Amino acid sequence: MPDAIGCEQVSSAVDALNDKGLQWLQEMIEFESVQGNEMEMQDYTKQVMTDIGLSPEFREVPDSLMDDPEYSHNENEVSYKGRYNLVDQWGRDEGHSVIIQSHMDVIPGGEWEEAFTPRFDGEYVYGRGATDDKGQIVMMLLALAALKDLGFDPGGRIETQFVIEEEVGGNGALALIRQGCTADAVIIGEGSLLNVFPANRGAIWFKLITYGKSLHMGRRNEGENAIEKMMEAISHILEYEKKLIADSQNYPLFERYEAPVQICIGMINAGNWPSMVPDECIMEGGVGFLPNKQMPQIKQELEDAILQTDDEWLKSHYKLTFDKLHNDAYASDPNHPVVTGLNQAAIECGIDSEIFGWNVSCDARLYAKLAGLTTMVFGPGTIADAHAAGEKVEWAQVMQAAKALALALSRWCE
Ligand SMILES: [Zn+2]
Repeated sequence: MPDAIGCEQVSSAVDALNDKGLQWLQEMIEFESVQGNEMEMQDYTKQVMTDIGLSPEFREVPDSLMDDPEYSHNENEVSYKGRYNLVDQWGRDEGHSVIIQSHMDVIPGGEWEEAFTPRFDGEYVYGRGATDDKGQIVMMLLALAALKDLGFDPGGRIETQFVIEEEVGGNGALALIRQGCTADAVIIGEGSLLNVFPANRGAIWFKLITYGKSLHMGRRNEGENAIEKMMEAISHILEYEKKLIADSQNYPLFERYEAPVQICIGMINAGNWPSMVPDECIMEGGVGFLPNKQMPQIKQELEDAILQTDDEWLKSHYKLTFDKLHNDAYASDPNHPVVTGLNQAAIECGIDSEIFGWNVSCDARLYAKLAGLTTMVFGPGTIADAHAAGEKVEWAQVMQAAKALALALSRWCE
């Protein structure tokens, strides 16, 4: 039996791949892999994986997924024909197993003209997807390639999943989970600044419509003003936010956040004439919440908050719906050996890494909630650089993360 792989071996194996990794990341950024335009990027990644010595395959996403209650609908949804997730299974179906997962779709470039023209200034790689999530994919490819180069032969199964449609709610991951995902743990690549996040905040979007009774301004007192009804509703919703924060203060793994949860009044629309009492007001917003609350509970509490009003008209003239984003919060065991093992590997590779909860949500919650798997988030870069014009990732962090991941995988699947 060969000696266990150590930090130094992993380090030099990853370092030897430095130029290749930089090339992969920049070539990946050139693919405008927005929703519906994934396959150039998937074909490229499949080829890289094959060259590394893996045996990746495409997994179909059935259109029937759109009927799944957990499906995230969006304005741009198109058929899944010819659009695939990419999956590789390395090792054997015995011993320890782990899934490493990242998403290959990106949000559009927006106003940023150079979004798909990658650039490396010696320190940072710039381009859409640099940190979210192509830098994460390259971290995983570097780790796998380094282990291959070291002659590592997994005593268990290392499954790699590169999925579509994370940015619109996680439909690629949902498809794989419905097709059956099993592993001792799941490592999701997202910019964690090399910390390990075994818990994520949840988020749900809501739409509130208040109805009034339209009249000319001159008879305003006989009407019911939908905007004023909305103001009344919002005052109770913001009152509820205080309770939500109080309920969630010092929740384990999230203690460091001053206001780990929040309610955002995001959009409002009403009226069409200055001297007319409006009969409808539409407001949309979001609620962020921790694993101490389940999603149905949040929906109920928000509704109860509105019903706190003394306004009898409002009580029976509103509609509250939750049709859009609905990401559950989750918490896995922070003492699970893959969580502590990854954190330990990072520290041994010289990384300042901690274990705590993330106040953002991603695909992780699907694996934790729907597949019941221990799930954590880990990766180079920070969410502050994602979705921004000038998105970037520090290249040294990608390399460090790859070393930590390779070391952790080699130990878990020894
Ligand atoms: Zn992401």
